[in-house]
Amino acid sequence: MSEPAPLLGLSGVTVCYGALAALNDVDVQIGRGEFVALVGNNGAGKTTLLHALHGLLPHTGSRRVAEAGAAQAMVFQRPFMLRLSVLNNLRVALWLAGVPKAERAGRACEALHRAALADRAERPARTLSGGQQQRLALARAWAARPDVLFLDEPTSNLDPAAKKEIEAMLAAFAADGMTLVMSTHNLGQVKRLATRVIHLDGGAILADLPTERYFGEHADLPLRRDPAAILPSEESS
Ligand code: ATP
Repeated sequence: MSEPAPLLGLSGVTVCYGALAALNDVDVQIGRGEFVALVGNNGAGKTTLLHALHGLLPHTGSRRVAEAGAAQAMVFQRPFMLRLSVLNNLRVALWLAGVPKAERAGRACEALHRAALADRAERPARTLSGGQQQRLALARAWAARPDVLFLDEPTSNLDPAAKKEIEAMLAAFAADGMTLVMSTHNLGQVKRLATRVIHLDGGAILADLPTERYFGEHADLPLRRDPAAILPSEESS
């Protein structure tokens, strides 16, 4: 199989917080259309890697972004909603993303349907449930048509039904060809969604493999020895 076209990459990147190297001399390339899962124990460096890929952190080494990968968005564990209606949260995001006015209404409407929130368009976004807010956060990011979407543990605060809905949205984004990079502790979710797994430990990459090979070959990595990381409810939910 041919390699996906590179969209962005880090070479020899180190990120320090005081004396701590949260990322240590990391090399990683993200290709168009990949769904990359970042896994590893607490403090392994997953969020730091997401932020470094997104260009949010000072670092040594280099970061390269292909012209076609310039539009990027991030969805966080706890979505941030403006004190506005659901629809106006979408409109503002589209305006901030520089989407021409003539396209905004259509895109907002499409995003509402993607999030299954069309019947709540006029509700204050902050009154939605956690799962609904996360669906809106995803649809809001999607509406701006990013080349790459970064996700930092997007389902960690949600119940199993809400997790399923978010996973369905992510699978649909991936099927549309969007490139996704997601940190998660949910290995069931990794198996269901990701095409590739990057396993971090102490700020370094321990494994970087296609998902099937990762689960076949790396049963001995520290995350998989941590029973808390593979509770049955996480595997199935
Ligand atoms: P988790 O699974 O708990 O979210 P993680 O793999 O995402 O962890 P990071 O949040 O990237 O890990 O943190 C990597 C290391 O850097 C940790 O030791 C963390 O304490 C440290 N760290 C992260 N952000 C900061 C900060 N702003 N200031 C100081 N240290 C930080």
